[in-house]
Amino acid sequence: MPLPTAALDELVTANRILAREGVVDAFGHASIRHPTRPDRYVMSRARAPECIEIDDLMEFTLEGAPVDTGGRTGYAERHIHGAIYERRSEVHAVVHHHSPAVIPFGITRTPVRPVMHMCASIGAEVPLWDSRDTFGDTNLLVTTMTMARDLAVALGEHPAVLMRGHGAVVAGASLREVVFNSIYLQLNAELQSRAAALGEITFLSDGEIDAVLATRAAFTFERAWEYWCRRAARPYDERPWAGPLAG
Ligand SMILES: [Zn+2]
Repeated sequence: MPLPTAALDELVTANRILAREGVVDAFGHASIRHPTRPDRYVMSRARAPECIEIDDLMEFTLEGAPVDTGGRTGYAERHIHGAIYERRSEVHAVVHHHSPAVIPFGITRTPVRPVMHMCASIGAEVPLWDSRDTFGDTNLLVTTMTMARDLAVALGEHPAVLMRGHGAVVAGASLREVVFNSIYLQLNAELQSRAAALGEITFLSDGEIDAVLATRAAFTFERAWEYWCRRAARPYDERPWAGPLAG
């Protein structure tokens, strides 16, 4: 069954938003689980997110094999996505990025934790994965399913995981959710770094994080998505295609 054009359009939009908001540059990627084939996912050929068009989108098995290359080459790090879809059935979208704001936390092993209400959905704990712990000296790229599965274990049930000397991964129920959490993970990292230079930080408590999430409506994602679509010069489509709207 061909993929709905709206789902593909939304994935193009997600890539453009992540680029516009500075979460990704020439590198980094977003994917969705295939809407009707949960054993597959969809992501662009290896191309900068800002440049992605609908014809760049390819289907992959969870093992990372392209279903039909059409002469295109996938991202070397696509296995990050497959390993997470394989491990977590409720995940319908994944973003991998190298946001400069998050790198200092991974390389100093300083935990990134919510410092403002909008960032509560990054989770009370953002775990850290260090490829060297298991794989020794590598080029740090996650280019095999073995490495990607190890990363997926570190992510666990969390919304995000940091990668030492590399970047981060955000996983969730919908593209709107993972784009939201990618942008607010970046913002939280910026704010936390700035605050650390001023003095002792008062983080959100676990109770405050729970309270924010309990009262957050699906409309929060929609309002943000419409705003980011406008900034990225992309049409706004109210209908979420890639999974349910998580509150
Ligand atoms: Zn990477």
